[in-house]
This record gives sequence, C-alpha cells and structure tokens, in this order.
Amino acid sequence: MILVVGGAGYIGSHFVEELVKYKDVIVLDNLSTGFRRLVNDKAVFIEGELGDPHLLRSIFTTYRIAAVVHFAAASLVGESVADPQKYYLNNVGATLNLLQAMLENQVKHIVFSSTAATYGTSNDGKITEMTAVRPINPYGRSKLVIEWILEDYHRSYGLNYIVLRYFNASGAHENGRIGEMHEPETHLIPIILQHLLGRMGSISVFGDDYPTRDGTCIRDYVHVTDLAKAHLASLEALLSGDVEKQIFNVGSGAGFSVREVIEICEWVAGRQAKVMMEEKRQGDPAYLVASNEKIKEWLGWSPTYKLPDIVRTAWKWHSRLADE
Ligand code: UDP
Repeated sequence: MILVVGGAGYIGSHFVEELVKYKDVIVLDNLSTGFRRLVNDKAVFIEGELGDPHLLRSIFTTYRIAAVVHFAAASLVGESVADPQKYYLNNVGATLNLLQAMLENQVKHIVFSSTAATYGTSNDGKITEMTAVRPINPYGRSKLVIEWILEDYHRSYGLNYIVLRYFNASGAHENGRIGEMHEPETHLIPIILQHLLGRMGSISVFGDDYPTRDGTCIRDYVHVTDLAKAHLASLEALLSGDVEKQIFNVGSGAGFSVREVIEICEWVAGRQAKVMMEEKRQGDPAYLVASNEKIKEWLGWSPTYKLPDIVRTAWKWHSRLADE
C-alpha cells in the first residue's frame, strides 16, 4: 500500500485520483485545509493528525506500507510571515513524527512536496536545481529544513527520497470531479475566476513595481494533473530502485505575470475583470520560473498543459462549484 499524507488537499487529491488506478492507497488527512469529498472512493481514508505518534504507529502496523507520499503542510507565504510557528510546528514538527514512524517500521521510500519558495527570488533566468536556495519566507524555510533532514536520514538510515519543488500548481482534473478548494481562497487563478463568476466585486494585484516586464510578479503555473504525474513517476523511480535520492523542479518552464494571467482568464471566461492595485504582499518573490530539464531527463516527465488549458480546466471546475 502507498500512504498518502495530505491526500484530501488540492494536489494530494489529484495524485490519489491517478494513483488508485495502479496501487492500493491509504490517505491520512486532518481535513484542516482538505476536503473529504475530494478523496477518491477507492482509497482508504483516515481522518487524523500527522503529529499523533499513536495514530501513526497503528497505521504503520495495520497496513503494509511500501512508500509514503507526503503532501500535508501549510502552504501560504503571507500566512507564514504572520505566523511562522504554525509553519514550523506543522511542516517540520509533524514531518519528523512521520519520518520516525517510517524508520521504526522499515519504510524506506518517501516522495516529499517541496516548493519553489525554497529558492527565494531570482531575476536572471530560469531556476535550476543547482540555483542557490535562499528562501525569503518561513514557508520556504520550513520546507528546506525538511529537505536537509531527508538528506541526513538518507545518509545515516538509508531512507530514500525524492523531493519535488513545485512551482504554482493550478487547474483542475479533466473529469470535473475534483479541483482547487481553499477556504479562504488566496491563490491568483481561483480568485480571478471566482471574481469573473460574480463572487467578488473586484480582484487585487499585489504590487506593480517589481523588476519584471510589466511590474507584476512572474510565476510558473503547472497543471495539477501534470504535478500528480510527476509524483507517480517519482514513486515508480524509488520503488524500482532507479533513484535513491534526488531533487526535481516541477514546473512548466514558462513564466506569466499577474497581469498576463488576468488577461488569459478574461479570454477563457469571455468576461472583463475589475482590477485594483494593492500594496505588495509580504514575502513574495518577483520571479519564479522553473527549468524542468532535470525531471525530463531523469523521470521522462514533461508538462502537457499550457496556461490557457490550465485556466480552461479551472474555469470548468469553478463554474460547476458556483452552480452547487
Ligand atoms: N496575487 C495577486 N492577487 C491575488 C492573489 C495573488 O496579485 O489576489 C499574486 C501574488 O502576489 C503572486 C502571484 O499572484 O505574485 C501568485 O500568487 P499565489 O498566491 O497564487 O501563489 P504563490 O506564488 O504565492 O504560491
């Protein structure tokens, strides 16, 4: 069985949707930001805390777990600046507990969700895995700490790992059953689309004097199913013994500014957005775009969605939610 921690969240649920086609799956999630309805019915679902050692012991002794895929984390840059303790307790503390349970039960493989926020910022081209890691917010730092812990555990305890540094996950599953749901929503594409559906009177652009082509932040938007497939390939590489430890960027390789994203959303929706300029959001890097050459070469993964199609799938999902 594969244990998917955080499998009721946005990215985790899209991974589970793919994984159940190949493996038996058990999902552990505390539903703090996830939703039970997003978890595919073929997976065993356990609601509980990653930080609860008794629960973990019982899961690892009840099920024969071959590998863990770990999505459970708090992941909002702004919130991490306001409340870093939440990020260190949740993202670092609870993960230590998971790793302890894995070691005690001889489970040797983990795929770990990391982030482009580990890099900090760069204005000079695409980010490779060799780019220096200089996170500029507690969220990025909390993920980098775990990357370092995984490396130490690999060396000393033989724990094998693949770290996936995500760029901006976006879009929704083509099947229309699952998609992005955050309460409250803070991410750019869902906010624009919800506004275009009439749920908010306007949208805010956080900062227009960044050193970028139009002054707004540039991000690399990668479709959530492409991201899910990067996890499938990683799991396969660990279980087959092809990879013992690696770090991969998972991004589309293309950068879009906040203004460009708004234009594409307007085009897909066929509606005009009302845009307000706001102050910069704390902790936001100006430019984050992936080089994805390494994962292409090692795992044969490539993104299949471009931004207009990403927005198309998100628009379908949000339109459906609005009708519920
Ligand atoms: N953003 C914005 N208005 C919003 C939400 C986000 O201008 O209402 C900007 C944000 O400052 C960042 C980009 O959009 O530059 C992507 O933000 P998001 O929260 O989607 O992802 P992040 O890059 O923070 O993980």
